[in-house]
Amino acid sequence: MLFVNPERKVKEIDKILRKDKKIVELLKKLVNYKCQFPECNSTIPTEKGVNYVEVAHIKPVFKGGKSILGNLIVFCPNHHKEFDLGIKEILEDNTETISGILNGKNFKIDLHNNYTYKVE
Ligand SMILES: [Zn+2]
Repeated sequence: MLFVNPERKVKEIDKILRKDKKIVELLKKLVNYKCQFPECNSTIPTEKGVNYVEVAHIKPVFKGGKSILGNLIVFCPNHHKEFDLGIKEILEDNTETISGILNGKNFKIDLHNNYTYKVE
């Protein structure tokens, strides 16, 4: 088994986070600090005056997902965890739209700010 020095691991993670920082902040601004999951109205006001949101990778980093537009999506913490850990089937995934079923709920998200919601 390959041994990875924990310090080295932390450095690698830091490197990834620092590289992501600009695009992550830009993306949050683009969606006005609002969760992109359809019909989500989660609000967590922060002392910075903006709503707390997180940026998730559609294709996870450990599967080779990159921090680029089209693979990043802004979620509230609940939707972030549900997206990462829930039962999910992705039906459509391109640079503009992602759609599928998450824990039994259909969703369709326009990655460029405005989203649409469709129940089938
Ligand atoms: Zn949400």
